[in-house]
Amino acid sequence: MKYEVVIGLEVHVQLTTKTKIFCGCSTAFGAAPNSHTCPVCLGLPGALPVLNGKVAEFAIRTGLATHCAIAPRSIFARKNYFYPDLPKGYQISQYELPICEHGHLKIETEEGGPKTIGITRIHMEEDAGKLIHGETAETAGSSFVDLNRACTPLLEIVSEPDMRSSDEAIAYLKKLHQIVVYLGVCDGNLEQGSFRCDANVSIRPWGQKEFGTRAELKNINSFRFIKQAIDYEVERQAEILEDGGRVIQETRLFDSAAGTTRSMRGKEEAHDYRYFPDPDLVPLVVSGEWIEEVRKSLPELPEAKIERFVREYGIPLYDAEVLCADRAMADYFDACVGLHGNGKTCANWVMGEVQRRLNDEGIAITGAPVTPTLLAGMLRRIDDNTISGKIAKTVFDEMWQSGRDADTVIEEKGLKQVTDTGAIEAIIDEVIAANPGQVEEYRGGKDKVFGFFVGQVMKASKGKANPAAVNELLKKKLKG
Ligand SMILES: [Zn+2]
Repeated sequence: MKYEVVIGLEVHVQLTTKTKIFCGCSTAFGAAPNSHTCPVCLGLPGALPVLNGKVAEFAIRTGLATHCAIAPRSIFARKNYFYPDLPKGYQISQYELPICEHGHLKIETEEGGPKTIGITRIHMEEDAGKLIHGETAETAGSSFVDLNRACTPLLEIVSEPDMRSSDEAIAYLKKLHQIVVYLGVCDGNLEQGSFRCDANVSIRPWGQKEFGTRAELKNINSFRFIKQAIDYEVERQAEILEDGGRVIQETRLFDSAAGTTRSMRGKEEAHDYRYFPDPDLVPLVVSGEWIEEVRKSLPELPEAKIERFVREYGIPLYDAEVLCADRAMADYFDACVGLHGNGKTCANWVMGEVQRRLNDEGIAITGAPVTPTLLAGMLRRIDDNTISGKIAKTVFDEMWQSGRDADTVIEEKGLKQVTDTGAIEAIIDEVIAANPGQVEEYRGGKDKVFGFFVGQVMKASKGKANPAAVNELLKKKLKG
C-alpha cells in the first residue's frame, strides 16, 4: 500500500536574552553548576516570578517575521508534572491565549515549487534544569541536578501538520533557524541545544482524510538526525500497518548511534498536565504601539535580502541564496558591493576565494583577515589592469596571510601586470626565435599551436603580461 506521510514540528528556540525569563539570573552557558540561580528559578516557596520584557519583545519579533497575529492579551499557565530537574513541580508556559497565532512561512519543496507551512502558535515558556549522571569512578551511579538552565527563556514554535516528507521538514527547520538567527533572538547553536525539535510523525493510506496515529520524536538537535529519525519512523509505522497492526500514540527517543527510535513513554494528553493560569503572573497586554515599534526594528529578513540582491546587484538567484544563507556572509557581500559596485564580481570572489579560505581554516566570515574594504580595493586593481585575474589569486592569498592591502602586496611582491607593449613584444620575439618548428606549424595552418605560444609568453613574464595584449601582439607577430 502507498502511504502519505504527515509531519508537524514543535521547535524550542532558546532566546539570547542576558537574563532568565522570570528572574534576573544570567543565561550564560557553561558556568559552574547552580551558580546562576536564585529563589525564583530554584522554585523556593514564596518566590515571585516577574516577566522579562525582552522575552515578550523577542516573541513579538519572531511572530511578526513569521506572519503571525500578535495577541493583545496573552496569559501564562502552569503545566504540572513531576521531574527531578523541575523544582517547582510545574513549568510556566502558555496554553490558552498564547502570544502569537496563525502564522506561516514558505519553503522550497523537492518538486521545486514553493509551499506554505502553517504556524499554529508561538508561545513563551521557561526551560527546565539539567540532570547530570555520574561519569567518574566515584560518582558512578549518582545523579546531579544543575539548575543553571532552569527558567531560561524559550519560544515554542508549533507548526501545522503540513509537511509530507522528511525533506520538507528539514526545509522548514532550516528556514525557521535562519529567521531566528537573522532576528537575533537565538544564537542558533544546535549542539548546545539552542534550537531543538520534537517531530510528530504519522502515516495514512493515500487518499484517506483522517490522520493516522502519531508518534512524537523528542528533542533532536541536529538536522541530519531529525531526517534520519523521521525516515526511520515512517518505515517503522508502515511495517506495522503492513503487518495488520496498529500504531500506538507514544513518545519516542531517537538513538543516533543506531539510527533508530525507541519507545520512551505513552503520550500524555493535555489534561494530564492539569494546566491552569498562573496566579502569580498577570496577563501580558501588548499594545498596538508596541507591536508597531517592534515591526519597525525588524532587520531585513532572508527572503527580502535575496530579492534585493537579485534586483539591485543583478546577481543570479542561486548566488543570492548562497550568500544570504548566513547573515554575516550577506553583510560582508553587501559591504563589498557597496564599495566596489559590481555585484557579480563580488559574488564570485566571496563565494569562491573567500569561502574557500574560510572553509580551509574553519573560521567564520566575521574573522576574515581580508575585510570587504580590502577585497574591494583588490578588485579595483583588476579593473584598472594593474593585475590580471589570475595574479589576483596570489595577491588575495598574500593579503589573507598578512592582512595588508592589495597595493602594498602588489608593490612588495612585484606583481604589477606588464601592459607595456614594448616589453611584451620583446618577450614574444624571444619565444618566436626559440621555437621555429612551432612557428612553421602555425603558419602552415595549425591554429592550435597558438595556445602554446600564449602559454610560453605568460610563463616567460611570470604570469604578469596582460593577456589581451599578449593575444593581440602574438597574432600580429606570428603572421610574419
Ligand atoms: Zn534566578
